[in-house]
Amino acid sequence: MQSQLNRALFDQVMVPNYNPSSVIPVRGEGARVWDQQGREYIDFAGGIAVNCLGHCHPALVGALKEQGEKLWHLSNVMTNEPALQLAKTLTEVTFADRVYFANSGAEANEAALKLARRWALEQGGEEKNQIIAFTKAFHGRTFFTVTVGGQPAYSDGFGPKPEGVDHIEFNDLAALEAVISDRTCAVMLEPIQGEGGIIPATQEFMEGVRALCDKHNALLIFDEVQTGVGRTGALYAYQHYGVSPDILTTAKALGGGFPVAAMLTRAEVASSLKVGTHGSTYGGNPLACAVANAVLSVVNTPEVLEGVIVKHRKFLDGLSAINDKYQVFSEVRGQGLLIGAVLNDEFQGRARDFLVASADAGLMCLVAGANVVRFTPSLVISDEEIEQGLARFEQAVAKVKQG
Ligand SMILES: *Cc1c(COP(=O)(O)O)cnc(C)c1O
Repeated sequence: MQSQLNRALFDQVMVPNYNPSSVIPVRGEGARVWDQQGREYIDFAGGIAVNCLGHCHPALVGALKEQGEKLWHLSNVMTNEPALQLAKTLTEVTFADRVYFANSGAEANEAALKLARRWALEQGGEEKNQIIAFTKAFHGRTFFTVTVGGQPAYSDGFGPKPEGVDHIEFNDLAALEAVISDRTCAVMLEPIQGEGGIIPATQEFMEGVRALCDKHNALLIFDEVQTGVGRTGALYAYQHYGVSPDILTTAKALGGGFPVAAMLTRAEVASSLKVGTHGSTYGGNPLACAVANAVLSVVNTPEVLEGVIVKHRKFLDGLSAINDKYQVFSEVRGQGLLIGAVLNDEFQGRARDFLVASADAGLMCLVAGANVVRFTPSLVISDEEIEQGLARFEQAVAKVKQG
């Protein structure tokens, strides 16, 4: 059975929108994964910033088993205890006082954008519909979110796009000032652009965007799908900046590997999504919320959040030692355990080569565009696993450098 379930079968039975690796993992524990052949990998990818507590963390397995024997699903015709608990926690630990649940980052962002448009309609009428977003931004793959995202290659070819969306350069306050007006409904951004190359917003930019949104009565939406749930060493990245949004979206690590997402907002804004205006069959599903409750109870502790800062240092020290030896990076950037190693001129466009060489050396990592090698490991990865993973990464770098 297992021998027939291989990469070749993928091409026969799957839609060809992905091109997965030939490695097929079958088991994971902490920051380690084993494939069909029993080969071990250290996981610095964490399922693209999702597995915030590694693979099969006992607290998450426990929550899933416990809820799995109680109640799986109701629909939003009724509410449920895990969803109420999760919403209560999220409002206690963030700026927000209302929560909407979804199942993926794109869906949470879709809800954020639809809410913003409804809110603006009530504030300023039909005219107030402009959404300002940034080049290189990534907000998901629904048609609205991919249109707001800043990579036309992802939104082209699907027919007429949702209108009223303008893109400007990230971290360029003057450009924002030039396009924002009382017609602006919302400005949407990632505090650290993830897919776009691990590009942090500057403090000045965050403060300036907030001030311009206030001036023009526009909503500020932070997409924290990748930066949220402890990834940067704060529960949410906006907390580092001391700049609060009006709407925040969270997904990826929120379920630690179980699909769950949320849109958080203030009561005055939330009131624009009246009964019947938006919804989701699975949103707020008890199984998903039970797991997310367990995730937050582990992640939102000083031990884990302070640990992220310590592990960040360890990664940076390790990567800089590797770079001293091989000279491949121009810069290592990011915050906490959202780290991007930027390739220097000699290795432009070759991030994928590092990923492939890493896999050969027994290490899973990611890219963010063609010039950045990205690391988003478990927030509780052990020192030993970091050291072993970096040793394997060094082998990969040596191999790419040799050519
Ligand atoms: C991954 C990601 C999304 C999309 O999330 P999905 O769960 O794939 O829909 C949206 N925004 C950001 C910043 C992301 O990193």
